[in-house]
Amino acid sequence: MFAKGQTVIQFMEQLAPKHVAMPDDRIGLQLGTLQKEIKTVLVALDVNEAVVEEAIELGADLIIAHHAIIYRPLKQLQTDTPMGKVYEKLIKHDISVYISHTNLDVTEGGMNDWMAEALGLVDTLPIHDVHTDQLSKLVVFVPKSHHQEVLDAVLNAGAGWIGNYSHCSFNIEGFGTYIPREGTDPFIGKQGQMERANEIRIETVVPLSIRNKVVQAMLKAHPYEEVAYDLYPMDLKGRSFGLGRIGKLREPITLGQMVDVVKEKLDVPYVRVVGDLERLIKKAAVIGGSGGSFVNSVLFKGADVLVTGDVDYHTAQDALAAGLAIIDPGHNAEKIMKEKVTEWMKNKLQEKEYETQVVASTINTEPFQFM
Ligand SMILES: [Zn+2]
Repeated sequence: MFAKGQTVIQFMEQLAPKHVAMPDDRIGLQLGTLQKEIKTVLVALDVNEAVVEEAIELGADLIIAHHAIIYRPLKQLQTDTPMGKVYEKLIKHDISVYISHTNLDVTEGGMNDWMAEALGLVDTLPIHDVHTDQLSKLVVFVPKSHHQEVLDAVLNAGAGWIGNYSHCSFNIEGFGTYIPREGTDPFIGKQGQMERANEIRIETVVPLSIRNKVVQAMLKAHPYEEVAYDLYPMDLKGRSFGLGRIGKLREPITLGQMVDVVKEKLDVPYVRVVGDLERLIKKAAVIGGSGGSFVNSVLFKGADVLVTGDVDYHTAQDALAAGLAIIDPGHNAEKIMKEKVTEWMKNKLQEKEYETQVVASTINTEPFQFM
């Protein structure tokens, strides 16, 4: 069986939830439909004509890409412009395009973590917080017979995380009272009679981002027709999602050696470097795409080097003067996402025994040549 478009995207959004994206980012389904079966998914960094040709040749139904194909409101759709041609071919061949951009950058186990891991950074932290989850307390009253079932449903849906502890809950026995009124079909008790039911009060924490999913799972597992539950807002912050990663190197190396690591691990032929090649690097920061505007933040956080693309002349001068080394592997270093997203999606689809294929694009969308 092939997965439906919505199913593929549900898996994608488990990796990179949309609500953690930066405001006004162009993400989600940008072209086509998800209301169809997906035989083949193509994962690409950018969508240009060559990538669309590749998708057509593969018979792909869906492209998952990092960079948007529509940035501003389209005023006209002329098919004799380069992007117009891309849109036309996509529509003619029924290929949908879904974008996962800053949500993929900031999510745990996403772009910035892949890059940090590739460069050998440990004990990493985000550089710039983009989204912090709000926490609620969920309390639900369950008859003893269904306690474990409801508890499992709530915790397995993702409630109950405190730091690195999962499945945190508190459970206390008591009794609930109620009178089932006309038109009810009580699980315990009789219509018109006051019931004292042995129940367990389960309490746990749930982040706003998954609150609906947790409540749905709870209601599904609960035997009552009217479930008594409370959701309290909490004055506590949940997980933070941030751009970039800063961390230590396992062993200090020189900037020159770090350059070799970046070239090898991010698979780029050339880099631009700011700083003394002999200086020792202990702490490094990495930001996928264009991270030049974070020079001050990473300096403040104690980084010796910032690895990021699209660094301009004046930013480089400022960094040099402030004592921050820079290695610029180009924006295209984000191509690491092609293999990583493909691997994630393949595993998710295989787990559910879907036959949908996932292919990483082999098209190099680097516009620069290095002479
Ligand atoms: Zn980018």
